[in-house]
Amino acid sequence: MNTRPPITILLLAAAVVVFTFQPASASLKSCVAGLKRAAIKAGVRRDVANLAFANVKYDEKVARFSRRQPEKITYIWDYMAFLVDAKRIRDGRAMLKKYSRTLKAVEKKYGVNRYFVTALWGIESDYGKFRGDFFTPHSLANLVCGGNRRAKLFKRELIISLQLVSRGDIKLSDLKGSWAGAFGQTQFMPSTYKRLAVDFDRDGRRDLVNSVPDALASTARFLKNAGWRTGQTWGYEVRIPKNYRGRWGRKRKASLTTWRKRGLVRINGKRLSGKRRAGLILPAGKKGPAFLVFRNFNAIYSYNVAISYALSISHLSDRLRGRKPFVKPWPTNDPGLTRKQRLRLQKLLNKNGFNVGEADGRIGPATRAGIKKAQRKYGLKVDGRPGTRIYRRLGGV
Ligand code: CA
Repeated sequence: MNTRPPITILLLAAAVVVFTFQPASASLKSCVAGLKRAAIKAGVRRDVANLAFANVKYDEKVARFSRRQPEKITYIWDYMAFLVDAKRIRDGRAMLKKYSRTLKAVEKKYGVNRYFVTALWGIESDYGKFRGDFFTPHSLANLVCGGNRRAKLFKRELIISLQLVSRGDIKLSDLKGSWAGAFGQTQFMPSTYKRLAVDFDRDGRRDLVNSVPDALASTARFLKNAGWRTGQTWGYEVRIPKNYRGRWGRKRKASLTTWRKRGLVRINGKRLSGKRRAGLILPAGKKGPAFLVFRNFNAIYSYNVAISYALSISHLSDRLRGRKPFVKPWPTNDPGLTRKQRLRLQKLLNKNGFNVGEADGRIGPATRAGIKKAQRKYGLKVDGRPGTRIYRRLGGV
């Protein structure tokens, strides 16, 4: 039985959140005052609360991001093309060298291999370079006071973030991250931070914003807590028989021997055998690459519940240790673009009169609108998607 659609991608679990109304500024003010009282009652220092809630304004961007509809699909080949690109692999290898002592100590303490820890760091914040620019107290206050249906959860996260500041782990100005409250090098939510953050450099503070050792150790601790098995890998690419009609799904596990009996082989031709249990995932359906995944894949998945996410971390970890790209191509004749190509695409759009504003490599509404105009002009499918076809048509290489 297969109820799973061929491409089940949720960029962020939080993307399903729906904003129900736009708060009037007076009600925002009184709501924020209530939050401040609640924070102080929960042990947040008064000066911290005063600063955190000063000048909270309605944030259109938070509202827009939280409204994003779950049915809006990103193809996995787009997602992985920019998350696991040549630059991220190169940068990751440099980080493995730079922090080799820390990573070795982290491996020893938590039993999580350095390549996974580094890959997660690289995808969460581009190795600490991009941590998001929403001021956490303000974006969370917007979610709570905007009547978000998960307001209770966001309120709790907001108060915990200020407790972290009150306790001296981080500064208030360090609370910069995603619109939904995740922040720092590892993009932990405040409650995850409170529960799992580690002071690995032993300076007395658990600082996942400015301390790389604290961030890497906390990532490893998260994975360990999620059931990581030391010495095991995440999984590997396999070949499924033509017209395969058997079961699949991350949770529908069977032993490797059973998978062999169902006709699967490793992509390198090696025979599958043994009692180790794995699930078969087909992130783009039966025509795309197939993977057998083990328990460690599920540990990564629990960091951010999306197959595309877990596969990106897993694949980046393989690439960091020198392994090859997937053998089977994604089932598309219009593959995704790397970050460098996305930036170049924006420049080409501007150059050709499809004004998309300043090129920053991020595909927002303006870029999508520009892509659509260009696609219309060149007689391509008009979907606003940053793919290879429009890129080449504009002269990209
Ligand atoms: Ca520390």
